[in-house]
Amino acid sequence: MTWLRPTTWDQAVRLRTAHPEATVLAGGTALQPLFNAGALRPASVLSLAAIEPREPVQLTSERSGVRFDALTTVHQALTNPLLERLFPDRELRWFGVPAVRHRATLVGNLLAPSGRRDLAVLLLLADARLQLRSGDGERELGLADLLAASSRLTPSPSRLTPSLIGPDELVTAVTVSLPDHLRHARAAIRASVAPAAATVAVALTALGPRVVLSIGGRIGRVPAAERRWMDDGANVDLAAAVRGAARVWSGDRRDEDTEYAVHAAGVLARRCHRALPTHAGRWDNGR
Ligand SMILES: Cc1cc2nc3c(=O)[nH]c(=O)nc-3n(C[C@H](O)[C@H](O)[C@H](O)COP(=O)(O)OP(=O)(O)OC[C@H]3O[C@@H](n4cnc5c(N)ncnc54)[C@H](O)[C@@H]3O)c2cc1C
Repeated sequence: MTWLRPTTWDQAVRLRTAHPEATVLAGGTALQPLFNAGALRPASVLSLAAIEPREPVQLTSERSGVRFDALTTVHQALTNPLLERLFPDRELRWFGVPAVRHRATLVGNLLAPSGRRDLAVLLLLADARLQLRSGDGERELGLADLLAASSRLTPSPSRLTPSLIGPDELVTAVTVSLPDHLRHARAAIRASVAPAAATVAVALTALGPRVVLSIGGRIGRVPAAERRWMDDGANVDLAAAVRGAARVWSGDRRDEDTEYAVHAAGVLARRCHRALPTHAGRWDNGR
């Protein structure tokens, strides 16, 4: 196996252009288990681990905008004051173990080949945009578009990079718009460290309320719940709206675990909504 180890983003982009077949590795916490199990045997690996981000997290000129380097780890994100509004649960104890949080990157989580992309829920709520670079220049890709495209794909070790990212492109940074108030809740079937059966996050942003649901490997905003919240204001029955979406997203599945997840989605939505400060509920519909 050939290892390519750039120390700057410029070098990494040049190497990516020359080796589009190489498997990109950031923290390695999603890919290493696939290497160990023999499910993935790449001929070459482009490891980003030696790139030192000069300024991992910085404010952008946009209102409430923050940009972070693609190599920002989960631990760095949780301890950075600029990202406090995005991660109100500063511990994220349910995410991996401390050793994993120190290595795992936020971007690696968004692009992880398995269905477990817990941080995508929060980043979608913050309208995350991925900055992509290749030898041809830079472009921006909305996380919402990326998630919509990857929910149509069956995760597979041979198709690691979601189809909207070219084989010669690297994600070098992410830009987010920080919501004013954000609440997040998850329910696991057996233990708190198990993958969540359902996750819900709600927030009030400058553009109105946002509701994000993750269930059965699909992650996305729930426009029907957001519209109902706009119309009904603080008295909205978010539980019913989110449960309805969870039911539709689960398709024909009616097994016990799916029924639990659909029910949990409604309960989590109610819990998140009730946890918002009361003045936020009045602010959101202008009443
Ligand atoms: C013990 C353990 C516990 C875990 N717990 C959780 C959990 O609770 N919740 C959860 O969601 N996940 C969990 N994970 C999975 C994993 O840790 C996360 O998905 C992590 O965020 C992946 O980040 P990484 O930097 O390690 O990614 P990597 O494994 O390095 O890469 C993941 C994918 O992203 C691509 N990639 C990474 N960076 C770039 C880039 N800059 N440009 C282009 N492509 C890129 C890689 O090619 C690869 O396809 C756990 C893993 C372990 C081993």
